[in-house]
Amino acid sequence: MKTPQNDKLKYHTPPLPSKSQQKSEAKSRTHRLAMPSPSLRLAVVGAGAAGLVAARELRREGHSPVVFERAASVGGTWLYDAAPATSDPLAAGAAHSSLYASLRTNLPREVMGFLDFPFASSAAEAGGGGDTRRFPGHDEVLRYLEEFARRFDLYGLVRFGTEVVRVRRDGGGGGGRWAVTSRKIGEKGRREEEEEVYDAIVVCNGHYTEPRVAHIPGVEAWPGKQMHSHNYRVPEPFHDQVVIIIGASASAVDISRDLAGVAKEVHVADRSAPACTCKRQPGYDNMWLHSMIDHAQEDGCVVFQDGSSIKADVIMHCTGYLYDFPFLEDDSAITVDDNCVDPLYKHVFPPEVAPHLSFIGLPWKVIPFPLFELQSKWVAGVLSGRVKLPSREEMMEDVKAFHSKMEARGWPKRYAHNFSDCQFEYDDWLAEQCGHPPIEQWRKLMYAANSENKAARPESYRDEWDDDHLVAEAAEDFKKYL
Ligand SMILES: Cc1cc2nc3c(=O)[nH]c(=O)nc-3n(C[C@H](O)[C@H](O)[C@H](O)COP(=O)(O)OP(=O)(O)OC[C@H]3O[C@@H](n4cnc5c(N)ncnc54)[C@H](O)[C@@H]3O)c2cc1C
Repeated sequence: MKTPQNDKLKYHTPPLPSKSQQKSEAKSRTHRLAMPSPSLRLAVVGAGAAGLVAARELRREGHSPVVFERAASVGGTWLYDAAPATSDPLAAGAAHSSLYASLRTNLPREVMGFLDFPFASSAAEAGGGGDTRRFPGHDEVLRYLEEFARRFDLYGLVRFGTEVVRVRRDGGGGGGRWAVTSRKIGEKGRREEEEEVYDAIVVCNGHYTEPRVAHIPGVEAWPGKQMHSHNYRVPEPFHDQVVIIIGASASAVDISRDLAGVAKEVHVADRSAPACTCKRQPGYDNMWLHSMIDHAQEDGCVVFQDGSSIKADVIMHCTGYLYDFPFLEDDSAITVDDNCVDPLYKHVFPPEVAPHLSFIGLPWKVIPFPLFELQSKWVAGVLSGRVKLPSREEMMEDVKAFHSKMEARGWPKRYAHNFSDCQFEYDDWLAEQCGHPPIEQWRKLMYAANSENKAARPESYRDEWDDDHLVAEAAEDFKKYL
């Protein structure tokens, strides 16, 4: 691919925030410290929840971010794509989002929202026509993110319909400046490339788009249809079919229940189930739990590890997603191996080029929005020089120590960004770096209460709970922002 000459590069000079923008932000600002460094020109990739809050925090710190978003609107994952256009149902294709029609949040809204912009049902009530449920449908999350973007005047920072296709270091040493090539996705499919230079890149491209697919011996000759949950929307096309779902994640659970209402049979293959598992699921007469698939056959049968077999029409891979940064050139100083993005100091900065390249939102098994917010505050503060990073050597030592700890626990590399047992410790560490209060106690308790409730009432946790006292505490806390 031809690389344009440096003398053809353009410097981007985004508009400064208007007086009204500054005023509206001041209303919800918790604190602001002196900024020792000049405003930087920053490229943010993505206008999902992470990109939006990153843009807000960067601008609050006095920087000038430009947000590149290939979709026509904000929201990322929450921008539901009813009819994904894809020729390969196992691949990402052109489908923007991985949401299915029936999706309701798996976190209570009080927990899920940004720290200083409550995701409160009162806003839905006030707006009329909103979804006031504690675990609302996906439309309500999109409304919330759109409101966030309006409230903090972020729309003007976003270049919609613009995809970042290449990011490479501009000039040698230190990782100081970056050339960003983007292309406008034109109305008639006309595409033009443009290259500009930025002082730093903040990557917020999400990690629920590039499907990870299970390996099934013999599947090439198996005559049925395979698809990934990324491309699942509604159950109707599976009417009267025999469907095998691979996985045990939130999507696998939701989709298996969605399908049980219309399919002839649903068989869930869970790799963590003992090899002899084959049992009907309580409350269903057409759904079974199995151990993992052993192999698939030319005659249409799929054989499980216990030797039992099912003649199936569809195998649905609810097997998660892969980190993917197709726009980063080899000089980005990171690699992705076994779904581990490495080396990264505290899952954000590649030491070699810190702080000029950063990643928001990599950890999983977390409450995403507050974590994005704290990471963004940290990145913004570090870029202005207000918050200090350790030396490159010290950051590399920290990364090595992290990997040694993973090895000692016997964790595979792909668990590197699994925060199931450390998210609040991490959040509070970030908060401390930025001079921000730690995560609220009620949020931590509510998260734990929701996990317990989900385990106790897997079918009904979204509509029945025992933590109303925490809901009341959150409502009280939210008063300072509403
Ligand atoms: C099925 C499902 C259910 C979920 N349920 C919940 C839930 O209940 N609660 C919760 O808190 N979280 C949930 N999540 C997690 C959810 O993904 C996060 O809440 C959050 O929306 C992720 O935000 P993000 O900004 O990191 O990524 P995304 O929302 O994926 O946004 C990334 C954006 O970057 C853009 N982009 C990517 N590459 C480029 C490029 N090269 N150039 C320009 N733009 C680019 C994309 O178009 C996209 O808009 C769920 C996720 C899935 C998939």
